[in-house]
Amino acid sequence: MKTLYFILRLILVLASVSTLVGCATTATGRQQLILMPADQINQMGITAFQDLKAAQKILTTGKNVNYINCITQAMTHTFTNASWEVVLFVNDSPNAFALPGNKIGIHSGLITLTDNPDQLAAVIGHEISHVLARHSNERLSQKFALQQGLMLSSKISAPNTQLGKTALSLLGLGGHYGIILPFSRLHEQEADILGLTLMAKAGFDPQQSINLWHKMAQANKQHVSEFLSTHPSYHHRIEILSQHMPTALVLREKAKALDRNPHCTP
Ligand SMILES: [Zn+2]
Repeated sequence: MKTLYFILRLILVLASVSTLVGCATTATGRQQLILMPADQINQMGITAFQDLKAAQKILTTGKNVNYINCITQAMTHTFTNASWEVVLFVNDSPNAFALPGNKIGIHSGLITLTDNPDQLAAVIGHEISHVLARHSNERLSQKFALQQGLMLSSKISAPNTQLGKTALSLLGLGGHYGIILPFSRLHEQEADILGLTLMAKAGFDPQQSINLWHKMAQANKQHVSEFLSTHPSYHHRIEILSQHMPTALVLREKAKALDRNPHCTP
């Protein structure tokens, strides 16, 4: 009887532990630790984005604003009807970022660097994939317990404090506040594979992703770009993209058959 009681208690304890410790699965089938509630992490992204828009110069109208919206919508509409806010930041460095809460920032320098909508789609697709795969939440969960994470999220609007800096860098915005905290190679690889799939499903040419990374590497030789400081190892990146290219090309053919042929012009 005592043994049975012990087993029952053990089951109860294990059950409560498993509901506390969130284990999720990404679209690539990888198990990940997710502790922060989704609405909390989304709110962090929304607040950080709001602050960044207020602090930096942005464009709200014009052909380039329509251009980045066209590319983003072509991709997000393949998996959701929910809207994503895309903002054009006046900044010469070729960079882009996405935040939980469906927020995307594009630097004007990235539009200058890219030759066509497909190359821009490669970067935007990569950034959207960081959000879809909950990478910010995972990074926060790996470093902090739930209570600490919640406390940290309340400091998101205080970039001058250590906790505020930590929160912003875990979210993926460190570069904007002078801290470089790269995504891990695992997260980068995952965002590359998911991003490639996303652009192909939307009807963009996935092969342009390789041209894009060559261009980024070249740009990095001229002046150290923030994007490559936070997104290292483009040789490895191109290798991974090449491995997944045959699958992506099949997806693009299917997209064409579904009449997904985005006409986004700068
Ligand atoms: Zn990345």
